[in-house]
Formats: sequence, C-alpha cells, structure tokens
Amino acid sequence: MAKRQEFGKEKRHIIAARAGYRCSYPDCDKLTVGPGTASETFEDNGYAAHIYAAVPKGPRGQGKLNPVQLSAVSNGIWMCGDHSSLIDKKSGIRFPANMLLGWKALHEYRTSFEQSGFKAAYGFVRELTIDNSALFTPGSEIVFAKTTFLIGPNGSGKTAICEWLTALDTSRNMWRWITHNILNYRVSFDAPLMQTLQVEAGSGALSLSLDNMAVHRNHARVSVIYVRDRGGRALPDDLARLAHLFGMDQIELKALAAMVSSDFVAALSFKRSLGTSGTPTDDLICTFPDGQVESFSQLSGGQQGMIVLELGIEQARIASQFGPTMLLVELKNLGIDWGNFATYLDYFASRQCIFQTVVTSWELPSDVEMLGWQIYRLVGPTGTVLGTIVESARGA
Ligand SMILES: [Zn+2]
Repeated sequence: MAKRQEFGKEKRHIIAARAGYRCSYPDCDKLTVGPGTASETFEDNGYAAHIYAAVPKGPRGQGKLNPVQLSAVSNGIWMCGDHSSLIDKKSGIRFPANMLLGWKALHEYRTSFEQSGFKAAYGFVRELTIDNSALFTPGSEIVFAKTTFLIGPNGSGKTAICEWLTALDTSRNMWRWITHNILNYRVSFDAPLMQTLQVEAGSGALSLSLDNMAVHRNHARVSVIYVRDRGGRALPDDLARLAHLFGMDQIELKALAAMVSSDFVAALSFKRSLGTSGTPTDDLICTFPDGQVESFSQLSGGQQGMIVLELGIEQARIASQFGPTMLLVELKNLGIDWGNFATYLDYFASRQCIFQTVVTSWELPSDVEMLGWQIYRLVGPTGTVLGTIVESARGA
C-alpha cells in the first residue's frame, strides 16, 4: 500500500491562510473558519485538498511529482467541504489539475489584493466561451489564470482568440470578424463585480451586450494591451508603426516610451531627423543598461521584440493601477526566445505584477510546462471539422 502524501498540520495551515480561509472554488468563497463553541476555541471546517493525488491511484493521479512535491503547499488548494468532495468525484475527471491550479492562482491573487487594500485594480478576466464560430466547436471555453498559455500551430486560432479578447477594450481589432461567418462569444470578468460581455459579429456589424443590455462598447472597462507583433507595417517611421501597433496616438506613445526603464533597456526616446527627401522621420532610440545606444531599426528581430514587449508591459503596469488589465503576447511574432522570455514569466507570476497575461506560442518548453501554468492546446479546424481547445494536464 503506497504511503499517503499528507500535508501535515503546518502546511495545511499555510494552504488555508493563503486562501484567507475561504473556499477557492470559483464563486463559492465560503468562509471556513470562525468561533468555536467554547469561548477560547475556533472552528475550522475547510479542507486542504490535493491537486495531484496523495496516493498513486487517487483523483487526477500524481503527474510527475515526487513525494516532496506531492505534499508541498504548492500542491494544495483550500476548499469548503462540499467542493473538496465534488472535485474528487469520478477520479477528478471533471476537474483536471491545471484547472485547480488556475483556481488556486486566481483565489490567491484576489486574497492578496484584498489584503493589500487595493481596490481599483480588483478585477479579473475569468472566462471566454465560444458559442458559435468558424474556428472552434460550440461551447469551447478558456478559463484564465493569472498567466495563461495558448499553444498551437499557425492557423489554430491563437490570434483569433486574442482579437476577440480585445473587444473588452476596443472594437478596432474586430473588422475582419464582421465580414466573416457569424461569430458569437461571451467573456465574463470581474470589474469588480462579475459581468459578462456578449459579442456577436457577422453580416457586416458588431453587436455587444453587457449583462444583457445592448451597448456599443464595453463600459465596464477592462484594459487589454495586445502585443501582436513587432509593428513591421509599411508606415513611414518607428513612431507611426509602433503607435499603429498599440492603437495609440503618437503623442501618447512618446510619453509611454519615456517611462520605460527596465533590466533590458534603460531608456527609450524618439529622435526626429530629416531624411534625404526632406521628410521628417521619428526613429526610436534605445539606451541599454551598459550605456550602448542603438536605433530600433538596427536591433535584431528578437531585440526589437523585447523592446515592443517592454512597451506593452509598461502600458499594462500603468493601466493595472487603475482597473482590470490583460496583456496579450504573441510570442512567435515577437521573435523572442524562451530563454529571454523566462525573466518576464517570473515577473508575471510575482505579486508586483497585478495584471493578467495571455501568451501564445507554437510550443512550450518542458521546463515551463512543469511549472503548473494554465495551458490550453489549440487544435485548428481541418476541412469541415471545427477546431478544439484542450486543457493540457501538467506533467501528464
Ligand atoms: Zn466551496
């Protein structure tokens, strides 16, 4: 008989405290601690549930976790009595490990906000449900964690999902969808109360409704910053290209660039010069921490991608101080390799970072996959068969 990998009293307490002693099941939030019957006691009726199972044949299995990892705080999720038994029914098949990891991250994120006294940024994009599209089977859904990966080949719908999510903020990425077949989807989010934006596109028009009321834009504002590529469009200069990429006024972009200062790039500024034809061009000048100064156009593709990402992160960092914010990063289009991207992943997971991130890529290195991020694999449509969105079980 295999030994049960129990958390023990001390770790159970840590798991509970990290959840604020409230159930982590979405929308439950039940308080599991309170005064006991005797005046000197308290009663705690919550459960530190295992994400990966305590025994080899337990719910969800044990993945590739060793005994130490199985009994670690990171493998526990705090739940009320009802939900701790619900998630283990039928070997936990309806509640895969990465779904629970996503819930845990979301619940801890909210608890952390509440504890730190932030109010404005208390919000979260919860879920995208695709009711009708030319790409995915009806009912396909994505539950967002603090960082969510969408992994799939070209044509599998990664960009489509990014564009659909931007409708929380703006309709400017929806042009190609109104000429498409009918598209219907919903995005639920907290801002800070839960609301649902319903989007219908097709027959040349876009119609939105917010909690069943017709609107022309999402009034419960969620900032969505979409870093789709390096901004390589046929526009006259860096300023015009990057302003177009971020859907910003050029004055705004200049102000934003002046605020960027990170471990990768110490400063950004625009420099105006007169070209041979006498037309002024505004080039982006990058000053690196070692003092090196280079113009954006002289950088390698990967370095350009990092600069564009820095601009996106700076926007998200500022926006998230004032309301719910989501950063969408199309990693392959930016040309950034995983080695360089790893430092950003640490930041996205940190408490200092108070926005959500969605990262799209063709593949995920195994060391990243093992860290327990929320991962969805996209299988694109083939012929008349619609594509699917599959939650990828960690370590499976
Ligand atoms: Zn519960």
